[in-house]
Amino acid sequence: MASKVRLYVDHPLGEGQSVPLSREQAHYLFGVMRLTEGTVLSLINGVDGEWDAEIVKAGKKGGILLCTNQTRPLQMPPDLWLLFAPIRKERTAFIVEKAVEMGVSRVCPVQTDFTQSANRIRQDKLQAHAVEAAEQCGGTFVPPVDDLAKLDRLLADWPSGRQLMFCDEILIGDPVGLPQIAGPWAILIGPEGGFSQAERDRLRALPFAHPVSLGPRILRADTAAVAALTVWQQALGDWA
Ligand code: SAM
Repeated sequence: MASKVRLYVDHPLGEGQSVPLSREQAHYLFGVMRLTEGTVLSLINGVDGEWDAEIVKAGKKGGILLCTNQTRPLQMPPDLWLLFAPIRKERTAFIVEKAVEMGVSRVCPVQTDFTQSANRIRQDKLQAHAVEAAEQCGGTFVPPVDDLAKLDRLLADWPSGRQLMFCDEILIGDPVGLPQIAGPWAILIGPEGGFSQAERDRLRALPFAHPVSLGPRILRADTAAVAALTVWQQALGDWA
């Protein structure tokens, strides 16, 4: 049996709740996926868990779905932020997509000293990538993707009690592992050019920042993001 189409809607979900469809959603469901009235699909909205919903009205410019029953409650990922310096556009989108699949509560693109100015981000497009990743991976939560923020600003306003896994490329060959500290965390991945010495000195002086090695080779930033998420999830996250 073909798996049910999963769709993110920005609308409350609940028993008997009818959900109006936008033109784009109607085109996708009825034009591209060729679904018809009576078909049941899965809805998520990032808040109310996953719901079965029946197509009660299908049209070219819109339609209506009717929620019938909740199939999964909201399942929050661990309280883990991913801070990363944007790299080339499609690779930045890849980082956001993997972060959602692997489980983060927030995605924070950060401007560091060596972040290439050409690496601009479109927050709305990255947020759409996060929604698509949640639809695809069976998630019920969609982490917010922030606008680009200066690393110094984020560090200056750092919330107490949150640890920082500082992935420092200078540690290659020096197997510095992740401290086993429970509670809220963040991961920091630098840009193609790595971290400046001033950034490294500043980070290493912070009591909540823990320099960690990701092995004996230099990883590309997108590889490093996946590697760091794997290390953290396996040690402190919801994979075990
Ligand atoms: N240009 C830097 C160099 O050649 O040393 C490499 C930067 S690397 C492409 C991008 C980011 O990935 C780094 O800033 C760091 O956050 C992370 N990274 C890559 N390899 C790593 C490693 N072996 N250990 C820790 N972090 C690593």
